[in-house]
Amino acid sequence: MLQLSSAPVRPSLVLPSLAAIVAVAIFVVDTITPLDIAVAVLYVGVVLLAMDFAGQKGILIVAGGCAVLTVLSYAITHDNDPASGPILRCLISLAAIAITGVLAARHQGTIEALREHASLLDLTHDTIFVRNQDDVITYWNRAATELYGWRPEQAIGRNTAGLLHTVFPAPFDDIMSELRRTGRWEGELVHTARDGRILIVASRWALQRDGRGRPVAILETNNDITERRQVEDGLHRAQSELAHVARVATLGELTASIAHEVNQPLAAVVTNGEACLRWLGRAVPDIGQARSSVESMIRNGQRASEVVRRLRALSRKGDPSYAPLSLPDVVNDVALLIGRELQSHRATLGVNARDDLPLVRGDRVQLQQVVMNLLMNGIQAMDGVSGRPRSLTVEVARLTEEPQSVVLTVSDAGPGIDPANLGRLFDAFFTTRQDGMGMGLSICRSIVEAHGGRIWATNRPEGGARFHVSLPIAQERIA
Ligand code: ADP
Repeated sequence: MLQLSSAPVRPSLVLPSLAAIVAVAIFVVDTITPLDIAVAVLYVGVVLLAMDFAGQKGILIVAGGCAVLTVLSYAITHDNDPASGPILRCLISLAAIAITGVLAARHQGTIEALREHASLLDLTHDTIFVRNQDDVITYWNRAATELYGWRPEQAIGRNTAGLLHTVFPAPFDDIMSELRRTGRWEGELVHTARDGRILIVASRWALQRDGRGRPVAILETNNDITERRQVEDGLHRAQSELAHVARVATLGELTASIAHEVNQPLAAVVTNGEACLRWLGRAVPDIGQARSSVESMIRNGQRASEVVRRLRALSRKGDPSYAPLSLPDVVNDVALLIGRELQSHRATLGVNARDDLPLVRGDRVQLQQVVMNLLMNGIQAMDGVSGRPRSLTVEVARLTEEPQSVVLTVSDAGPGIDPANLGRLFDAFFTTRQDGMGMGLSICRSIVEAHGGRIWATNRPEGGARFHVSLPIAQERIA
């Protein structure tokens, strides 16, 4: 296979000297031996040798030189001999030298053009290399040398995966079958440089096929995104820490309500326990009533432990874990914690959702936080409302205009949003509340966007605000 290295080639005198020696030898044999054959045809070999060290012009000069030697030799040996045989042999040799010279020069021109194109690839900051079907590197550009620390002569001929210790994001066979099917593949790879640095690269592969459509080589272009990824990771960590702090702060605001949510079932457990003892203490113990008291105790105990479980999940600090989940379930999780809050603000909550809604993919705790923020904002917005019910409604639906998403809408009966503020509600630190931080909606937006969704606000024509969260469907619900 032709290998095009764009690295500068150090001129060597070995091949030119060899060509010169061969040319002189042919000249001597042609001139002093009385052979009746076209010895000068052998100059073709000299022209071919020139391909390895001379450019297009150089080859033509060598061919010209060989032709001059041929004619000189003829002139010396057949000075006054007009016989047709030697002339014919001389002409045949000249024709062979001329044809070989022209073809070799043209071939060299093509190679020079290709080499020039290949050297263009050295100008790019992207690392580019080519590997054959056996994963052996056949081309390696300058940026690849700079990034990985291997020079072309060290990399060419080596196996890519072995040289760069590639970690693939999917099984290698799957990647190769996609490449063969579509001719392209894109993804992130982890490579190890020569000095042991771990690099994350955005990699693009393109498959080269021969005239018959058989794959011959893969062009791999890599962009170093290690630093960007580290910054992004740091940002994600900071965002998730902030979300956690905000969550704990919200739970702090809800302490009284949550204490009530736990206390109520515990008080019921005590009452049921006392009732149970009374049923058992009768002259003829009423086992049926005692059993139903115990069942009620169990139900209440479970409710209290459920509240505590959700509370602990919300206050826990941890990396988001994504899984298919039902948005109405998330709403119910939150509703369980804010019942008392609604009561103390004289607000009511209605939840509207069909049972067969598709699942979305998300982190349950983060989505609970979004719902909790929106519900708490709605409750607070309705604080000054009098003369109409303080009703808060959550609707979860699949809209015809957005069939690929599930949309959660929280509507309140508060004063609505000043149209001048609609554009900056989700900005960090934007607040109109005296004791507000202005982080709630901004955190909601980063959570929703990290889930591939959108969040936006509108005003209800009948008064009040409406917040919409749209999340992409992960999977249809199996009936
Ligand atoms: P904070 O509640 O600390 O002010 P948020 O980010 O939760 O921070 O809300 C930002 C602002 O958005 C609020 O100060 C308020 O002006 C407005 N807002 C949020 N929810 C509503 C709502 N349901 N009705 C009217 N305005 C709202």
